[in-house]
Amino acid sequence: MPAPLDAIVVGAGPAGLSAALTVAGLGRSIALLAPDRPADERTTALLAGSEALFRRLGVWQDILAASAPLRQIRIVDASTGLIRAPEALFRAEEIGLDAFGYNLPNRQLGAILDRAVAATAIRRLDDKATGFTAGETGAKVETAASGALVAPLIVAADGRFSPARAAAGIETREWRYDQSALVVNFRHTRDHEDTSNEFHTRHGPFTTVPLGERRSSLVWVTRPREADRLRKLPDAVLADEMERMSDGILGAIELAGARQVFPLSGMTATPLAARRTVLVGESGHVLPPIGAQGLNLGLRDVAALPEIFDGDDPGAPAMMERYDRLRRADVQNRTTFVDALNGSLLGGSLVGQIARAGGLALVERVGFLRRALMREGLAAV
Ligand SMILES: Cc1cc2nc3c(=O)[nH]c(=O)nc-3n(C[C@H](O)[C@H](O)[C@H](O)COP(=O)(O)OP(=O)(O)OC[C@H]3O[C@@H](n4cnc5c(N)ncnc54)[C@H](O)[C@@H]3O)c2cc1C
Repeated sequence: MPAPLDAIVVGAGPAGLSAALTVAGLGRSIALLAPDRPADERTTALLAGSEALFRRLGVWQDILAASAPLRQIRIVDASTGLIRAPEALFRAEEIGLDAFGYNLPNRQLGAILDRAVAATAIRRLDDKATGFTAGETGAKVETAASGALVAPLIVAADGRFSPARAAAGIETREWRYDQSALVVNFRHTRDHEDTSNEFHTRHGPFTTVPLGERRSSLVWVTRPREADRLRKLPDAVLADEMERMSDGILGAIELAGARQVFPLSGMTATPLAARRTVLVGESGHVLPPIGAQGLNLGLRDVAALPEIFDGDDPGAPAMMERYDRLRRADVQNRTTFVDALNGSLLGGSLVGQIARAGGLALVERVGFLRRALMREGLAAV
């Protein structure tokens, strides 16, 4: 007879795996519903704030070994407007950090967290949740093949379309951008010097992020139709376009992986917890991939979970309110920050160009503004 459960974690993406490890680390008994993950060619730049969580979970050394440091960020105005901003280079050491963050393939992050979960007593089921009910004293999750599970709390880490969120009656606000992101990993002949390069075009940033020795990942945000065209190009032709977009800064480029296209959208759920269900990761908020914020925000949800386990009932209404209070401001601020960042980079009006160029020129020259912007980008540091 297995021990009664303290929580059921639904979903084994990076947020769900980290949540299961965090709650199990409190000595609680956990079931993790973990159907196969869909193919994911993305990489994640884990910003400095996520390091503390992964250190506590005992996986930071493995993550470090699998990732590349991001010590500098170069911003280049690649718009074709009349007024162009000067190039800006931000160094992590200016704000006393060794690196802004560390970039690794999502697949590798998943494998590291899978191994950590396997080394605990977490009851991992390769199964899907099919139904959710919440009552005064507990919640029930039906599964496709393993029967029903009962616990005081459901941790919904089941992604942007979260069925657990819908069952808890939590409302969402959703919006779309007229942009898609093409992602692909590549090799190059010049050293990246631990620098992420952001070339800001009128349709979104073309961003390269270090991934290893003479290897980088690309997130190319552009119009949906253009992303579709790029996805279908022969390897050598796409590599040429990438070389042109990056001004040859990384030398000759050769693709080193499959391509994926992600339509850009945003979503915020309100509240972030209700009916014995707490939202972590993209079940609670979706951001466009600008400034590497999405999962880093989700990991701060995870880091807040211990706060609702310090009483008798982690699913009690007071704990749902506490979790929402703890996470609301951060989720709202990040959503506004990323949306404003994306908006400020678009728009071709002359006034917009002057503001952007002037803003960047100011930030480039004025030390405290530079440091404030860098800290804002890193949020919880
Ligand atoms: C192009 C791009 C680049 C990005 N780069 C960065 C970056 O550099 N830094 C950063 O911080 N963020 C980045 N992000 C955001 C980041 O990828 C996401 O925030 C993150 O992957 C979300 O993780 P998650 O665990 O919340 O959700 P998911 O990874 O979507 O996991 C949800 C899981 O739930 C499972 N599931 C669904 N339904 C059920 C069910 N009924 N029962 C059980 N399980 C279920 C699914 O199988 C899935 O495995 C990027 C996003 C994009 C699009």
